[in-house]
Amino acid sequence: MKCDPTLYRAAPPSLAVKPRLIRHLFLPPLVIALMIGLGYIGFWVSEHYGIRSLSENGQRQLELHARAVESEISKYTYLPSLLELESSVSKLLDDPTPETRQTVNDYLEGLNRRSRSRAIYVMDTTGRVLATSNWRDVDSYLGEDLSFRAYFQNAVRGQPGRFYGIGSTNGEPGYYLAHGLEEHGKIIGVAVVKVRLEAMEERWQRARLEAFVSDENGIIILSSDPARRLKSVVPLSDETKEKLARSLQYYWFPLNELQPLARETLAEGVEKLTFPANSELASDEQNITYLAQTRPLSDTPWNFTLLTPLADLRREAINQGILVAVAFALVAFLLIAWNERRKVIATRLAAREALQEANNQLERRITERTTDLRASNERLKGQIRERRQAEETLRRAQDELVQAGKLAAIGQMSTSIAHELNQPLAALRTLSGNTVRFLERGQLDVASTNLKTINELIDRMGRITASLRSFAKRGDDKGQASLGKAVDAALQLLGSRMESAHLHLYRDFKDAQVQIDQTRLEQILVNLIGNALDAMQSQPLPALWLEGEEYDGKYRLRVRDNGHGIDAEARKHLFEPFFTTKPGEQGLGLGLTLSASLAAATGGHLGVEHPASGGTTFVLSLPLVSPTPAEPI
Ligand code: ADP
Repeated sequence: MKCDPTLYRAAPPSLAVKPRLIRHLFLPPLVIALMIGLGYIGFWVSEHYGIRSLSENGQRQLELHARAVESEISKYTYLPSLLELESSVSKLLDDPTPETRQTVNDYLEGLNRRSRSRAIYVMDTTGRVLATSNWRDVDSYLGEDLSFRAYFQNAVRGQPGRFYGIGSTNGEPGYYLAHGLEEHGKIIGVAVVKVRLEAMEERWQRARLEAFVSDENGIIILSSDPARRLKSVVPLSDETKEKLARSLQYYWFPLNELQPLARETLAEGVEKLTFPANSELASDEQNITYLAQTRPLSDTPWNFTLLTPLADLRREAINQGILVAVAFALVAFLLIAWNERRKVIATRLAAREALQEANNQLERRITERTTDLRASNERLKGQIRERRQAEETLRRAQDELVQAGKLAAIGQMSTSIAHELNQPLAALRTLSGNTVRFLERGQLDVASTNLKTINELIDRMGRITASLRSFAKRGDDKGQASLGKAVDAALQLLGSRMESAHLHLYRDFKDAQVQIDQTRLEQILVNLIGNALDAMQSQPLPALWLEGEEYDGKYRLRVRDNGHGIDAEARKHLFEPFFTTKPGEQGLGLGLTLSASLAAATGGHLGVEHPASGGTTFVLSLPLVSPTPAEPI
């Protein structure tokens, strides 16, 4: 049974492979791109919210430290105005005598010591220092003209003078608070307090705080990092730079700009600044990014800026980004794995369904085929029955034919049989008459000899009739025969003809046991040998060869004669019934037909060969009863 191959055929490779190839080519770059993208988004979100929380926290810190700066500055605001109350100061301004100057010097020295300011001094309206707390020092301000100082110019106009600058005498930075001293509503001089604010820087450094204070010109005057000090946080025009240089506010220091590598304004007063970590060794790896929060300091035109390093935040954001990327990769991997598994299960299910379907089809086909087979089996059985019946009919017909053939042969031989029987009968008659006479004469010896001869003749006649009887008897398909006995019987039957023909007989066969009825075998041999004798009638030296051999479970007997042979036309009709070349009543044309059908009925065969040397050979093959070889005869 053949199965339909299309049932098990997989999808064409080109169709199955292409999408998978595309997937394999594009999926990894896509996953990597998404990983990078999501990682960056994770980083950005983390940084964004980190900055927001940092700036909220920074706002509080900014407020706290800005207040501290404000209180530090405002601590001294009242101090210069105090001098208005001191009579020696107004006396000095009215009439600057050495005595009053000394008195004021001493007073200012004491006041300075108590207030822990850097210096306190008094100037006249022209800007000359009349008295100072540091009158003892070599670099004392005494007698100096400081009219160019902005704080003096403001104070002399009655405005509060707030000023951060570097001392022109000793180059020391300080915060100057000036106040116009009034008498009867008129400004008669200016009192100045110089304060050092470096303590704040030290405090910031101790607290590891990064901060700076920039003044009204945008110049950093206080910074936790000394490198940033006296740098400008805003771009300065050449004109401004010149003006500032002229004012000597920052002494002779170059006012470079504090240039961040990157600046990003996040909100009002909130910026993201990136500085090189070290100005000498500026490189990308050493850049430091800060969150810069700025707030103006009250009562001053200054700004306080708090710098919060974003390095930790950035590191954390990078970690978050990596985490997001890794989480995505994991999820993607799980999804891909799940998808692959799903596909495998789907494929398996499809394969199982296909298999089930194929199975069902197979079963259906088997059922159909079984039904067909059963039907054809039934048909075959019917045919076998018919064949058996036909065989039975044929066998019966054969039997009838055999019988008819035998009778025909007997009829054919009747003349010679009659001759064979008449001769001994005539001899018997003569002998019996003679014997009676010899007995009457008392010649007992001669009578006895005659009686013996009579017995022999009777035996011979009996053998002839017995042969005829057995030949005429109905046979059996399932019988066994001895080849030797059958040949002997046939030769005996044809004995008289053989004798008269002076035949040379050559025997070379075994007494094989073959599957055929003994009588039928005898009849076949009588036919074959009889035909050979007929063919050799005009042969001066007739010879008959009986040669046997075993071949493929059969015994093959060749009956060869050196007769006249068979012409080409006769060969075509040899085994046809009633075909004969014999004249008159001599031939019936049944001998070969019957013999061949007798041989075929037992599974054997009768064939003919025409040797080139002349004559004819009939080949009789009959199945052997047992494979054991018989003794040669
Ligand atoms: P019949 O002997 O009655 O003619 P057969 O069937 O026995 O019928 O033989 C048919 C014919 O085959 C014979 O008439 C003869 O011509 C030919 N034939 C048979 N045997 C031989 C033989 N040995 N040699 C030559 N011719 C033969």
